[in-house]
Amino acid sequence: MSDCIFCKIAEKKIPAKVVYEDDRAIAFDDVAPQAPVHTLVIPKKHVATVLDITPEDHGLVGHLFKVAATIAKEKGIAEKGFRLVMNTNADGGQSVYHIHLHILGGRAMHWPPG
Ligand code: 5GP
Ligand code: ZN
Repeated sequence: MSDCIFCKIAEKKIPAKVVYEDDRAIAFDDVAPQAPVHTLVIPKKHVATVLDITPEDHGLVGHLFKVAATIAKEKGIAEKGFRLVMNTNADGGQSVYHIHLHILGGRAMHWPPG
């Protein structure tokens, strides 16, 4: 999608600190980290929100979680623990309308979230 910032990152039209990439997904560090580790995993395919995931995307979405687990291990936060978040629409706090899994770790997370 031409005006989507995360599509542009996936297409390398906007720079990002890429930590993982394959044919279906790319992961990069968040520009405004909320924890010592804050990485975003996105599909290369544009999907605006979790509400727009179709049955043909199910394997892709599962892949995002597998990539997130791999990155958590690589970044050394897997054993102590980490949080995966996908914000949806305004009340969910979504600001970029291309689905992304936040990987947050390196400190204890709080519950309930803000
Ligand atoms: P959301 O609020 O949609 O759940 O998460 C969007 C995230 O994308 C935010 O944490 C924000 O800091 C991050 N972000 C927004 N624009 C950019 C960018 O251009 N580069 C990177 N690396 N992160 C971005
Ligand atoms: Zn997009």
